[in-house]
Amino acid sequence: PQPIIGPPPKSQKYKGVKHTIMVMSGKGGVGKSTVSVNLAVTLANQSLKTGLIDADINGPDDPKMLGADNEKLYAQGDKILPVKTRYGVDLVSMGFILPTEDTAVIWRGALRHKAIQQFLEDVMWGERDYVIIDMPPGTGDEALSVSQLIDADGVVIVVTPQDIALLDAKKAINFANQLKVPVLGIVENMSGFICPHCGQTVDIFKRGGGEKAAEAYGVPFLGRIPLVAELVEKSDQGIPAVVYSEEMRKIFDEIARKVRE
Ligand code: ADP
Repeated sequence: PQPIIGPPPKSQKYKGVKHTIMVMSGKGGVGKSTVSVNLAVTLANQSLKTGLIDADINGPDDPKMLGADNEKLYAQGDKILPVKTRYGVDLVSMGFILPTEDTAVIWRGALRHKAIQQFLEDVMWGERDYVIIDMPPGTGDEALSVSQLIDADGVVIVVTPQDIALLDAKKAINFANQLKVPVLGIVENMSGFICPHCGQTVDIFKRGGGEKAAEAYGVPFLGRIPLVAELVEKSDQGIPAVVYSEEMRKIFDEIARKVRE
């Protein structure tokens, strides 16, 4: 028989955390994790105490992106202690407790909700300036589960530059409006490919979708991140873009500045 799920628990704020920010997208694969990780590292570099929750339980990539995929989670009492990464960001991810790197997570809804709940509620953050939540992709049940548990202070939306970005952004904005969480703005990712050979920019996915969406829906435009081949490789090696690229550092400094306003 299907387990019966009661009404969702009332969302709560993390004690001791000044700002909780959800990074979401209208769909998967647009660079939500890349933005979450680099934003978190940028905030940590600005001497802010920063935590990151990898709430994508299907494909928890953040440990790998932060070079922490061999770490384990520890508990103190009944609380989970976040893992310290080498980039100053403390991280909680389902990836730390899944048996192997390529274990697929195939759980039924109720169990999934329970896992997300435990994950979010039982973290011992201590005093933090920022906790960034790398949300499950899209605006479906899982994203809803997360947002019903944690009362966030703002949402950052990641889109790609195609015209469809308008639709994707709209879904995410509607979602945030329903939760009554302010939209801090839109980031356009994979905006223009910089050719590693000639340095020219090629707009593979067109350009400007994120900015158009921001204009259309009256929310701030936070910045544009180019598509760079090097990013994939470095990301797989556990080196965030803002750590090795001056250009990325500038872009994310600007995004972080607007998020902090
Ligand atoms: P999501 O969290 O939305 O599923 P990811 O951040 O995991 O997206 O990104 C999907 C893939 O695209 C990853 O392999 C990532 O390294 C790559 N990627 C993301 N942003 C960029 C970029 N600006 N340039 C090049 N590759 C990128």
